[in-house]
Amino acid sequence: MIDSNSRQCVKVAYLWDGVSSTLLEDVTLISQQGIITEITTSQVAEAIDLGNAAIIPPLANVHAHLEFSDLKQPLSPALPFTNWIGKTIARRRANDNVQQAIELGISESVKSGVALIGEIVTHSQLEYGLHKTGLSLLLFRELIGLTPQAVKEQKEIVAAFLKRYRDRHSLGLSPHAPYTVRPELLQQCVQWACEYTLPVTMHLAETRAELELMKSGSGELVEMLRRLDLWDSQMIEEGTKPLDYLRILSQAPRTLLAHGNYLSEQEIQFLAGEPQMSVVYCPRTHAFFKHENHRWREMVDSGINVAIGTDGRGSNPDLNLWKEVQFLGEKANSREAEQILRMATVNGWRACGDPVSIEVGQRACWTVVRTQNDSSIPFTEWRDLIGPLTYVETVNLAGP
Ligand SMILES: [Zn+2]
Repeated sequence: MIDSNSRQCVKVAYLWDGVSSTLLEDVTLISQQGIITEITTSQVAEAIDLGNAAIIPPLANVHAHLEFSDLKQPLSPALPFTNWIGKTIARRRANDNVQQAIELGISESVKSGVALIGEIVTHSQLEYGLHKTGLSLLLFRELIGLTPQAVKEQKEIVAAFLKRYRDRHSLGLSPHAPYTVRPELLQQCVQWACEYTLPVTMHLAETRAELELMKSGSGELVEMLRRLDLWDSQMIEEGTKPLDYLRILSQAPRTLLAHGNYLSEQEIQFLAGEPQMSVVYCPRTHAFFKHENHRWREMVDSGINVAIGTDGRGSNPDLNLWKEVQFLGEKANSREAEQILRMATVNGWRACGDPVSIEVGQRACWTVVRTQNDSSIPFTEWRDLIGPLTYVETVNLAGP
């Protein structure tokens, strides 16, 4: 166990602060009482040499559903989407040990170097604080309401959630998606978010079927809701777009849009003017559902804060955020590789309202990446920092 109060010195082959575009070589990082006090290229005799490794800001997985962490493989088939939703609902009902799944998910995340999880909470009695892992958790209570009665019940759910976790974790609200949340519940959610200063996350522009539901009250999702006797044709005004939801969500103190797979040019422009709003791209889940190309490059170029999530193991084989980085990195040029590293680290923390960087005065929390066989990193461009590095661990001397 590392004593977080003591002075710590580590020497590393490469260090990226998450702010500049420079990779420092042969650097020593000194921290005291959980705060970075010095970053130097001078020799420090007492430094522990990490060798051929790179230090980057801590990895952040800002969209996860840990309740599915006991699944051995994603629920399949992925399509049609409504079929997959049916499988997740059945799985949720059949799981009689959600607590164990949460613990598996936390342990898997910590082992793969994740330092922050944005978790969607769907049960009232779960414990997230059993592990002294140094992991930061931002818990978003999922809210669903398709009937006026269900909408009314959400108030008590929110009150109980805030009471239970307020003193232990960072909290937020998650109105699930346009096809499960009546517009008045979304409005209510945003009001609660303002009242209690909470971030909000919502699945938005995830599928073409969702756009069709909004625009014309038809399509696969509407058919599913009709079968469940939950569709109210008056619920969403015809011609509604994700932009209408973005306008409402922009009033919350902070918003994380899960997926944003089908956001239009106009919606991207809107988001570019709302720095408190972030998009959370889930690369391997996006590929699992065979969505059209994600516009994350355009979003980044427009100035939108794009972060990365794994989503749950219902649509992803694991919760390893570094694998998301490598998955995106395979097709990336060097400039994009640097952006991907930002998305997986500093952008995730920023999305959650808790910015980090590896700079003097910042918390002593970072991720160390190295090659499996500890060989040197052949750094000539940013892609080199993704491709050959497979072993990831996170050091947190600052505490969650
Ligand atoms: Zn999700």
